[in-house]
Amino acid sequence: MDCIFCKIVNGEIPSKKVYEDEHVVAFEDINPIAPVHILTIPKKHISSVLDIKEEDKELIGHLHLALQKVAAATGVNEDGFRVITNTGVHGQQTVFHIHYHLVGGRQLEWKM
Ligand code: ADP
Repeated sequence: MDCIFCKIVNGEIPSKKVYEDEHVVAFEDINPIAPVHILTIPKKHISSVLDIKEEDKELIGHLHLALQKVAAATGVNEDGFRVITNTGVHGQQTVFHIHYHLVGGRQLEWKM
């Protein structure tokens, strides 16, 4: 499968990893929108929120616990941050391997 994030998981494309375990990997976004902008992904290829299956429930929960570790590792756990998962056309998803943007390091606003 020609998936850029699967290639990051496999090490075929370089990335700046900030966290990794058996099931997930977190790495710096190549085009950051804030001082801290990390993408956390499951190693398993899941296309989007709409592709999550019953069998993935534990994995998705695990990923959220990993987000806590990413927040602590990048220092945004104290002042707060935002987790975003863009989905489909209106969500402006461009990479179809589910990923959770963790954005922080400055005061964020909520206007789209
Ligand atoms: P959008 O491009 O609208 O943010 P997504 O939510 O699908 O849509 O996000 C894909 C993200 O992946 C983008 O923020 C982009 O900068 C990032 N990205 C693409 N290729 C790489 C890469 N090789 N390494 C790190 N981040 C990447």
